[in-house]
Amino acid sequence: MTIEPVHVVGGGLAGSEASWQIAQAGVPVILHEMRPVRGTDAHKTEGLAELVCSNSFRSDDAETNAVGVLHAEMRLANSLIMASGDANQVPAGGALAVDRDGFSDAVTAKLEAHPLITIVREEVSGLPPVEWDKTIIATGPLTAPSLAEAIAAETGADALAFFDAIAPIVHFDTIDMDVAWFQSRYDKVGPGGTGKDYVNCPMDKAQYDAFIAALLEGGKTEFKEWEGTPYFDGCLPIEVMAERGPETLRHGPMKPMGLTNAHNPSVKAYAVVQLRQDNALGTLYNMVGFQTKLKHGEQVRIFRTIPGLENAEFARLGGLHRNTYINSPTLLDGTLQLKSRPGLRFAGQITGCEGYVESAAIGLLAGRFAAAERLGRQPALPPVTTAFGALLGHITGGHISSDDEPGKRSFQPMNVNFGLFPPLEPGTKLRPDDFEGRFRGKDKSIAKKKAMSARALADCRAWLGASPRAEAAE
Ligand SMILES: Cc1cc2nc3c(=O)[nH]c(=O)nc-3n(C[C@H](O)[C@H](O)[C@H](O)COP(=O)(O)OP(=O)(O)OC[C@H]3O[C@@H](n4cnc5c(N)ncnc54)[C@H](O)[C@@H]3O)c2cc1C
Repeated sequence: MTIEPVHVVGGGLAGSEASWQIAQAGVPVILHEMRPVRGTDAHKTEGLAELVCSNSFRSDDAETNAVGVLHAEMRLANSLIMASGDANQVPAGGALAVDRDGFSDAVTAKLEAHPLITIVREEVSGLPPVEWDKTIIATGPLTAPSLAEAIAAETGADALAFFDAIAPIVHFDTIDMDVAWFQSRYDKVGPGGTGKDYVNCPMDKAQYDAFIAALLEGGKTEFKEWEGTPYFDGCLPIEVMAERGPETLRHGPMKPMGLTNAHNPSVKAYAVVQLRQDNALGTLYNMVGFQTKLKHGEQVRIFRTIPGLENAEFARLGGLHRNTYINSPTLLDGTLQLKSRPGLRFAGQITGCEGYVESAAIGLLAGRFAAAERLGRQPALPPVTTAFGALLGHITGGHISSDDEPGKRSFQPMNVNFGLFPPLEPGTKLRPDDFEGRFRGKDKSIAKKKAMSARALADCRAWLGASPRAEAAE
C-alpha cells in the first residue's frame, strides 16, 4: 500500500523534528526549506535546525526545571533534536549547550540520509495547495512575507502578529496576598468575571516615585537593526511611558481609580499595579500593561520593589521582539490543526511557544499527530501533567484570553514552565514519608517541582508506551 507523504514547510527546529517523527513512524515526508534560495534576517547558513542566537537549550535538570523535564520527555520520544544536541554537547554547567555547527550538521545529515525524507530547497509562497492534504507549517518567527500574508488572509489579519509585546508573568503562589488583594476596578463583574478578578499591588507616592526613577535608569535591550521600533499605540513599553512624564503610568496601567486596598481601606493607594489571571489553572498571573524592553535582570530587580511582589518568581519576563505567530487558542484544535482547514497543522514558534526546545517539542507533537492520522489512527494527546501536555495546553486552550486591553490581543508566546502544569493532587507525597504541607519556603518549592517532574515523566512514559512508538534516534 502506498502511503501519501506529509509535507513540512520550514526546516528549522520544529520542522526538522516533525519530519523525523513522521518518517520514523513509517510515513514519507517532503520537507520544504527555503534556505539557501531565500534567507531570513537571522539565519546565516543553509543547515537545517540552525540556532540563530544562543547555543543553549537551557537547563538540563529534569528534576526541578520545566525545560529540563521537556528535554527528558523529548529523549523518551526519540527526539532527533535532543539526540543531535546530546551528541554535540559543549561544557555549560547545568545547561545543555551545543556546538551549533556540529548540531545543525548532525540534524541535516540524519534527515538527508533518511529513506522516507525528501528535502526540497524552495520557498513555499502561499498556503499549501489542496493536493497537500496533510501539511505542517513550521516557518518560525521569521516566516517569509508572502506565506505570512497568505496565513493572515486565511486566519484573519488580527490573528497573525508580527511582533510580540510581552508583559511579565508571575507564579501566583509567590505573590504576597497579605499585601496585595483581589478586586476588579469598580468591582465590575463583566460577562465572565466575579468582581474580584485582578490581583492589586498598592504603592504610596514615595514608592511610585522610586519605581519611576528605577524604570528610567534601568538597562534596556536594544532592537536589532532589522526589527525597527515596533511600538503600537496602547502597547508602549512601560519605560517609554515613564519617559513621557512621571505621571503617565499613574494615568495608564498603574491608575489607582476604582480600587480600595482591602488591607487598608482608609488609605487610597497612589498607584496600583494590577495582575490578571493568565491560565485556566489559575497558577499564573500577568502584569497588566507591563510590556517592557528592560533587561531581564533589571526587570526582576525593579519589579520586586512592587509591594506584594518582593518574592515574586517570574514564569516569564517581559519583552518586545519581531515574531510571527498566530492566535493559536482560537485558531487551532487540540492536535494543532487549523480549525478552518483540517489537515493543515502549525508547529514551532509560529504557534506561540518560545525557544528552540519548545519549538522542537511542538514539532515533535505535530509530527506524531500528522503521522498517526496518515496511518488512519486517532492522534494520542499527551497527558496534561506532562511538559508536552502543559505546553500544548498553553497553545491550544490553557491560556485565558482577554482582549480588553487596547491595541493587542492577550495571547503571547511563552517558554515551558511549572505554572503551565496542573497543581499536584492534594496529599501528594513530596518526599518519602513526607506529605505536602510539612515543608516551608524554598525547600517546599523544590520538593513540589520534584514531585511535578516525577509525575510528568511517569505519565510521559505511560503515554509513549500507549502511542505508536518511533524508533530510536540512533
Ligand atoms: C533574532 C532571534 C534570536 C533568537 N534567540 C533565541 C535564543 O537565544 N534561544 C532560543 O531558545 N530561541 C531564540 N530565538 C527563538 C528561536 O529562533 C525559535 O524559538 C526557534 O528557532 C523556532 O523554531 P522554528 O522551527 O519554529 O523556527 P525556525 O527555527 O526559525 O525555522 C523556520 C524555518 O522555516 C524556513 N522558512 C520560513 N519561511 C519559509 C517559507 N515560506 N518556505 C520555506 N521555508 C521557510 C526558515 O528558513 C527556517 O529555516 C530567537 C529568535 C530570533 C528571531
